[in-house]
Amino acid sequence: MYFVEVILPLSLAKTFTYSISEAESHYLKIGMRVAVPFGKSKIYTALAIEIHQNKPALYEAKEIQQILDERPIVTKIQISHWQWIASYYMCAIGDVYRGAMPSALLLESETLISQKTDSFVDTSLLSDDEFLVYEALQQQSSLKVQDIIAILNKKNIFPVIQQLIDKNILVLQEEIQETYKPKLIRYVKLNSRYDSNQGLTDLLETLKNANKQKEIVMRYFQLSAAENSKARFENRITMPITVKKLVDETNSSAAIIKALIEKEIFEEYFLQQDRVNFTGKISEFELLLSAEQKKALVAIKNVFSQKEVCLLHGVTSSGKTEIYIKLIEEYLENGKQILYLLPEIALTTQLVGRLRNYFGNKVAVFHSKYNNNERIEVWNQVLQKSEKAQIVIGARSALFLPFDNLGFIIVDEEHEQTFKQADPAPRYHARDAAIVLAHSFKAKVLLGSATPSIETYFNAKTGKFGLVEITKRYGNVLMPNIELVDLKEKYFRKKMTGHFSDILIEEITAALSMGEQVILFQNRRGYSPIIECITCGHVPHCQQCDVSLTYHKHKNQLRCHYCGYTMAKPTHCQACSSVDLTTKGFGTEQIEQELCFLFPNSKIGRMDQDTTRGKFGFEKIIDSFKNREIEILVGTQMLAKGLDFDNVSLVGVMNADNMLYHPDFRAFERTYQMLTQVAGRAGRSEKQGKVIIQTYNPDHNTIQQVTTNNYEAMFDEQLYDRKIYKYPPYYKIIKVTLKQRDFEKLKTGSMWLYQVMSQNLNMPVLGPEEPIISRIRNEYIRVIVIKIPLSVSIGNTKITIQKMLNSFEAVSQFRSIKTTLNIDFY
Ligand code: ADP
Ligand code: ZN
Ligand code: ZN
Repeated sequence: MYFVEVILPLSLAKTFTYSISEAESHYLKIGMRVAVPFGKSKIYTALAIEIHQNKPALYEAKEIQQILDERPIVTKIQISHWQWIASYYMCAIGDVYRGAMPSALLLESETLISQKTDSFVDTSLLSDDEFLVYEALQQQSSLKVQDIIAILNKKNIFPVIQQLIDKNILVLQEEIQETYKPKLIRYVKLNSRYDSNQGLTDLLETLKNANKQKEIVMRYFQLSAAENSKARFENRITMPITVKKLVDETNSSAAIIKALIEKEIFEEYFLQQDRVNFTGKISEFELLLSAEQKKALVAIKNVFSQKEVCLLHGVTSSGKTEIYIKLIEEYLENGKQILYLLPEIALTTQLVGRLRNYFGNKVAVFHSKYNNNERIEVWNQVLQKSEKAQIVIGARSALFLPFDNLGFIIVDEEHEQTFKQADPAPRYHARDAAIVLAHSFKAKVLLGSATPSIETYFNAKTGKFGLVEITKRYGNVLMPNIELVDLKEKYFRKKMTGHFSDILIEEITAALSMGEQVILFQNRRGYSPIIECITCGHVPHCQQCDVSLTYHKHKNQLRCHYCGYTMAKPTHCQACSSVDLTTKGFGTEQIEQELCFLFPNSKIGRMDQDTTRGKFGFEKIIDSFKNREIEILVGTQMLAKGLDFDNVSLVGVMNADNMLYHPDFRAFERTYQMLTQVAGRAGRSEKQGKVIIQTYNPDHNTIQQVTTNNYEAMFDEQLYDRKIYKYPPYYKIIKVTLKQRDFEKLKTGSMWLYQVMSQNLNMPVLGPEEPIISRIRNEYIRVIVIKIPLSVSIGNTKITIQKMLNSFEAVSQFRSIKTTLNIDFY
């Protein structure tokens, strides 16, 4: 009797045993996928993690349906890393498996499959089975796996579906729902038959009587040559020639280019912007580090000879990226794989460009906005140790790729909270999980930040991590000069126009007159957060959530930022019918509008969640700002994330206070990080930048620490508070969230759990508390926080917690209460 132990892509903590034949037991290897029946009639893609001969004691093992892979597609190191994540973050191994794999590798019986819109299908290239599926989809818009089993009259259909996905004919359901369209750019290149000298002569002969066309072709040659050398000089990726550029440069029309394409002189092709293949030459200019950078590089290497993790604490624009590049170079030479983690997908495009200059096509990108085919492609490249993915840049999910020979992980902007996954499980922290992953490869980890998290800096100060610091900006650029504006005083003296102080207006005017750009930061989107009735004080709330609705003027709507609920802006109060409604607070949209009034001749842009939807929304705004098509950019914290603009001389913070008073033990740390990072966008070239921070609390310690660029003072103060109030790094925090539609049930249940926990755990347990937003999508919420002192075993505590949760779930009246655990919650 032979069995395979598998992980199912479901929220199940256990693994399951299926029976296999002896032949299958020889063929099947750990890390291959198998299709297995589960429940009454469902089929899932499971992952083999052990082949054994132990009959399960509690149930009759079902047979697997089929083996899906010819060789393992998941490595043993991955499996044990996933098991670590499941155990550390207290979630089901099935959750980790499902979160880690590109979903096209996880077909299941319920998956809806349809034909890709506007795909061209050459039916003569399809196998009989593939054709049958294709034909069925001409009648029906989508099919379930079950339907396809019926159509083909056989069970082993996953390979057929996979083939059709690979051939770009089918898509899975979730892709159809994706609203974004990849930005495609139209390029032309010379038909390869004209590549030779003879070809060139022929070409000129062909164009003898077509002057305009000849001119375009000649211009094409010039542009290609110029593009190549310029790219090398400017240290950036070489792009092929776009149709747009050619039309602009030659004052011609798209029609003439089209004629050239029809004549087969040019070939046109389309590329998705961030998947453009690097066609230029790798930069010939050697990257020369400054003395400061060299010193840091040596120091990091020293650390790595003794420790696995090093923090690079370098002020904004100190040239950390160039140090990463030098290190990457060395690991590349030793044939190692390198993982470069970024907090935000949107930052990848900028970075890919920079890295490809040095490493050409060895740079791959992996993130959740890629479609299935793209993700599978990178997955396979990493698995096969292909050179094309020797350096992988990605957001946190890139951590789950099948590395085999990982040598080096960079976690850039390590303080960013987006590295922690909030929902769904696994609620892992990519920085911490990266350190664990590196350990199993004996790889090194470099954490980089201008404003390290308190935890990381603590680890560096106490010797767990190495610490390397750079206190100067690259190229003698000065740190920005930060000036505080006291809003209380300005309002009192009537020196405000809308939300702009006289000083801010002066500075903006001065910057614009010098042809410099301005960034304005307001950490709230929308027009103004709330609408209030002047007569009775009523504020419209979301019907499903315990939050006031945000006013979006542009669409004349009230919108819930938690569940997406929208309603038209009311003309009168819903409570007293009064028509005297006023707005309170302000968001990016209102700032944008005030700007249009204050600076009617300037080009103004806005960057927030509302304007950056879609795959390339963010890049488009960044591009137009870089190209100076936008002079003043208003935005939320998206602006704070490691962007490099060279012409921004002024940064204005509209209001520093709303972050400061968040009821969260990290509020001061976050305010410091956010303000320092936004300020860091100012003056990244020769001229010293200026930052104006408007605040009601100019004397607040945190604001002062930002102004004087005193990270150490911020750290010391916060660390002291964390010790007194029992927070990380001195205590590990576990947040238990309970949700239920029935308010009374939730109250009883959360009190029950709280009491059991506080009686049985010999440590602080807080709660059950109503969070500030105590209802979302009609579910009430309660929170219990457990604080584990460093002296206590975390492993044992988690076992106790799990037992208590099990007994909680065993109480029938509590069974409908959903509980989630968030370890090290951010
Ligand atoms: P950080 O990541 O520390 O904020 P960057 O790596 O973005 O800083 O560097 C800031 C600016 O200085 C960038 O425009 C970068 O190109 C430039 N720079 C840094 N180091 C060098 C170097 N050694 N040679 C040329 N340019 C550099
Ligand atoms: Zn009213
Ligand atoms: Zn809502």
